[in-house]
This record gives sequence, structure tokens and C-alpha cells, in this order.
Amino acid sequence: MTILVILTLVVVALFLVVLYLIFKTNTFKTDSPQQRHSNLGKSVEESFTCMNHPDNSAVATCAICEGSVCEHCHKDWDGIHLCPEHFGLFSQHTWQEIAEIQTNPKAPEKGHHLYQFKNKLWSDEKVPTYLVTHYKINVDGDFVESWVKLYAREEDADQLGMRFKVDIQ
Ligand SMILES: [Zn+2]
Ligand SMILES: [Zn+2]
Repeated sequence: MTILVILTLVVVALFLVVLYLIFKTNTFKTDSPQQRHSNLGKSVEESFTCMNHPDNSAVATCAICEGSVCEHCHKDWDGIHLCPEHFGLFSQHTWQEIAEIQTNPKAPEKGHHLYQFKNKLWSDEKVPTYLVTHYKINVDGDFVESWVKLYAREEDADQLGMRFKVDIQ
């Protein structure tokens, strides 16, 4: 009889150990996706850190080079966000509007030409330009219109304006 009681206790103890192990494994399993999730969150955050200070998170991207900048590096010129380097460049030149494109929800792709043109100028030729988007609510049509305008240095303006006209055809 005593042996039977001891055996029962051993079986119950083993059962509890197995339960504990299952519980532990499950806890581990539910932990890992969370871990992965937080790692992912971290990497997204890391990808948007200052280009000069990898420990600081970015607050804006430069209108000219599109590099991300932290609070310390961020420069603002009349609402245009710039990195320290291009703030210097920006302040030394007169800038002129060279092209504008109106976009609306029916033709959102129209603005892309301007973005592509700007990105290509910078990546291929390091010619600085910047875009400004103005929003306007069209009351009759009940939609938001946006005007995307491209600005270039005065000395580049004529030549780039011509190039964009050729490019868009
Ligand atoms: Zn820049
Ligand atoms: Zn910085």
C-alpha cells in the first residue's frame, strides 16, 4: 500500500515536471516573436538615425541630399529642412523655381517626374535642387491639390528648366 502511494506521488511529481517544461517551452515560444518584433522595431529606428550621429534618431531629411539629420544637425531655412553641409550651400546661393507640377488624386503619378528628375540630378551629377510641396483644397472638386515645385541655383536654372521640359515629353 505504501509503495503504491509513493509511486502515485512520483507519477504526480513527474507529471508536474512535464507540465512545467511545457509551460516553460510555451513561454519561450511566445517570447521569441516578441523579441523578433522588438528587434525589428529597433532596426527600423536605427535606419532612421542621424547620418552624422548614429546614436541620435533623425528628426528630418535634408531637402538637397535627403540624408537624415538629428536635432543638433537639423537646420531650417524658412521651413526647408537641411543638413549642416547643405545649409551652408543653401545660404550661399540664390534659388529659383524651375518647374512646377500640379498633382491631384486623379493623377498622383504626375509629381513623380519631378522627384525622379531631382533624384537623378543629385545622384548622377551632384547638382543640388530641392522640392517644395504646396497643398491647396479645391473647394469645387472637394479634393486636395498639391503643387510640387522644383528649385535650383540661379546659375543652373535656365539649363535645368530646359532639360526638364525635354525630359517630361
Ligand atoms: Zn544635405
Ligand atoms: Zn546629428
